Amino acid sequence: MKTVFTTVTSAEAHLVVHLLARHNIAADISGEALQGALGELPVFGNVRVKVAAADEARAKQLIAEWEQTSDSSNEWRCNACAETNPGSFEFCWQCGASAAT
Ligand SMILES: [Zn+2]
Repeated sequence: MKTVFTTVTSAEAHLVVHLLARHNIAADISGEALQGALGELPVFGNVRVKVAAADEARAKQLIAEWEQTSDSSNEWRCNACAETNPGSFEFCWQCGASAAT
């Protein structure tokens, strides 16, 4: 497995996993357990998204494109589970509900 994304929050890591899943790339998250063990405080840079080595280049490209288009001012709140999603996401990372519903 290759690390393609490192973040401070597990929520952002899940966003990336969801993004990759939509492009048929399986990804794993590591570091979440450590974050939980230390309470609610984020452990900076310790949540990592990993993909198979064969998917590394494509995953990095998708993440780079996502980071360019990601605009926090367009955040939307899911009507189904009340989770906050970035404007670049058409579906809720938490429950998969469409942004339009
Ligand atoms: Zn939701």
